[in-house]
Parts: sequence; C-alpha cells; structure tokens
Amino acid sequence: IRCLKKETPAPGISLSTTEIPELQAGELLIRVKRAAICGTDVHIYNWDEWSQRTVPTPMVTGHEYSGVVEAVGDGVKGFQVGDRVTGEGHIVCGHCRNCRGGRQHLCHNTVGVGVNRPGAFAELFTLPATNAFKLPEEISDDMASIMDPLGNAVHCCLSFDLVGEDVLITGAGPIGIMAAAICRHLGARFVVITDVNEYRLGLARACGADLAINVGGANADDLLKSAMTDLGMLEGFDVGLEMSGHGSALRNMLNNMAHGGKLAILGIPAEPFPIDMDKLVFKGLTVKGIYGREMYETWYKMRNMLIGGLSKRLAPIITHNLKLEQYKEGFEIMRSGQSGKVILEF
Ligand code: NAD
Ligand code: ZN
Repeated sequence: IRCLKKETPAPGISLSTTEIPELQAGELLIRVKRAAICGTDVHIYNWDEWSQRTVPTPMVTGHEYSGVVEAVGDGVKGFQVGDRVTGEGHIVCGHCRNCRGGRQHLCHNTVGVGVNRPGAFAELFTLPATNAFKLPEEISDDMASIMDPLGNAVHCCLSFDLVGEDVLITGAGPIGIMAAAICRHLGARFVVITDVNEYRLGLARACGADLAINVGGANADDLLKSAMTDLGMLEGFDVGLEMSGHGSALRNMLNNMAHGGKLAILGIPAEPFPIDMDKLVFKGLTVKGIYGREMYETWYKMRNMLIGGLSKRLAPIITHNLKLEQYKEGFEIMRSGQSGKVILEF
C-alpha cells in the first residue's frame, strides 16, 4: 500500500510503500480517504530537534484523517465494516493514575499516532477501536479529517464560559482560526485575534473574528488598547486563548486581560521565555495548560457543534485539497504560512 514515510533520520518525507498492518485484537483497520497536514508533520518533515528526539525511523507519519472501517479486530464492540470514522491520535495506557481517574488526555504513557506508531498517511492503518470516532453523515470527509486540531480548539474554548465574554486569541494559525469560529458559535461577545501573517488574519475574519489585528512591526499593546477602545471594552479581555507559542504574544495577552480573566494556553514554545508574573498575580488570572482533547467529551461536543452550524462557519479554513502524490507541494504550502488546512486525498 502507498504511504508517506520518514525513511531515514534526515529532513524530508517520501512517497513510499509499506505492508498492510497486521490487525490486532481490539483494533480497527481503517481505509484512509482524506488526511490533513498538521504543524507536527511539518516539524517531522523539517526534522527539527523535537522530531529527532521523538520519532523513530522508518515511520509512517500523519494523524489527521477520515476514512472507513475496512476490518474489525477480535473483541471490538460498536464498530462495523463500512463505518465512516476519524479518531483520537493519543493512545493512552488505561492503567496510570490519570487514566483510572477519567483524565485520559493526561495519561503518563501517551503514544502518538504517526509519531511513535505508524500513522494515517497510508492507504490503510490500524487504530485501537477505543480511539475511533464514528462520523454522522452531516460531517463531510474533509471536515472530519481536521477534527483532531479542531478538537484542540474546542478543548480550549470549552475550558471557560465564553457566552457574552470578550475573547482574545493570540495566533491565527489553523487552530487559532478554528477557535475564532468556535467562540462565535458559542456566543462570545467580541472575538479579537492577533497574528503577524495577513493571509491568516483574512481567514480568521472569514471564520467570524470581529477584529483580526496584525501585530507585526507596530507596538502590539498599543494596537490592542486602541482596538478595545473602538469596541467599547473598558477593562480588558475576559478570556485569552494563547495559540501561537510565542513569548511576545503571551506578554501581549497578559497586559490586556481584565482582572479575574482566564487563560487557556495551547501554543507550544520553541524555547523558554520570560513573562511578567506581576500581571498574573495582581490581575488574579486563572491559567490552564491545554494538551490534546478530552477523551472523549471533546469529541462528542465537537460532533454536535459541527452538525449545528460550526461546519459551515469553518468552511474557509480548508484552503487546499491536493492528491496524495502532491504531498510535497502540500508541505511547501504549509511551510509558506499562506494556507489554512491542506488536505490530501487518497
Ligand atoms: P501555527 O504555528 O500554524 O500557528 C501559530 C501562529 O502564530 C502563526 O500563524 C504565526 O504567524 C502566529 N504568531 C507568531 N508570532 C505571533 C505573535 N507575536 N502574536 C500573534 N501571533 C503570532 O500553529 P497551529 O497549528 O495553529 O497550532 C497553534 C499552536 O498550538 C502551535 O504552537 C502548536 O505547536 C500548538 N499545538 C498544541 C497542541 C497541544 O495539545 N497543546 C496541539 C496542537 C498544536
Ligand atoms: Zn494512562
């Protein structure tokens, strides 16, 4: 079968072939229809320090996909051949303290699909059935293939009450843009998003941000202050969603939060950076780090949000549909920053 594989510990990913994986008890064999390129795949493609530390080679990459159940392993309940599915990419141990406590997304022994075990950039791959998520017909193959990153955004947005609140999102990458759409969907008052990339700010506007501000070059705090004045916001943002991984963005957020504000931090910094702890203390801020998606509450809630109008709102985020063979172009587009989600068709 065809696949995209990291063959050797060096930059690049190649269009290659691999054996049909052997189906174990409790697993599904999934025929992939669509797969989306994640920022993580780009890290693996570039073979940065994190990938070198984390990814054994050879490895079939990819963890954002939608497909159809091709075969069902022994002991699997609730799935049949032909079911349309996507799935949670974090495979958890089931016996650590957090798993037993019902917090599987915080498992101490998480294994990543397409990172530590063969992934979804393949015509067929296996997944524990407990990780699979059955799709209703209202959710298209394309939209289903981005439910993994969308789940990150949903997890952030459902961490705090957003109804009627003013939200600041720093970073209009695919996940930040998705978050803007979700905030709108959930009934936030003002949704303001920042980035340094004009193309992505445009997508954020199309997905429902009230204001999308380019903070490259000018003083970001001044820009936000005047935006807040224009909107008639006197005291700062109620909720902050950090989705850039950049220190300047987080400092910008801390400076503009209202007293008692709440922060969900998803962005992963490339290196440690300083912040002004005073802001956190004197404003009495609540900060929550976000990893992955709650298993599986995020998935059930996301499914119904998609059916209930979120799919339509998110349509602009899918900017490129390519054939599997065009994967190099897909990675180049992702690296350029001039894209929302790039989807490969199998
Ligand atoms: P991305 O890298 O595509 O988007 C980040 C955006 O931040 C870019 O558009 C960039 O231009 C922008 N940016 C850079 N400097 C900025 C600044 N000073 N102010 C505002 N914006 C700035 O990433 P993504 O795929 O959308 O993911 C968002 C973040 O979440 C990344 O850091 C990613 O590593 C992280 N992530 C975390 C999890 C998790 O489970 N915690 C999962 C997936 C992704
Ligand atoms: Zn565990």
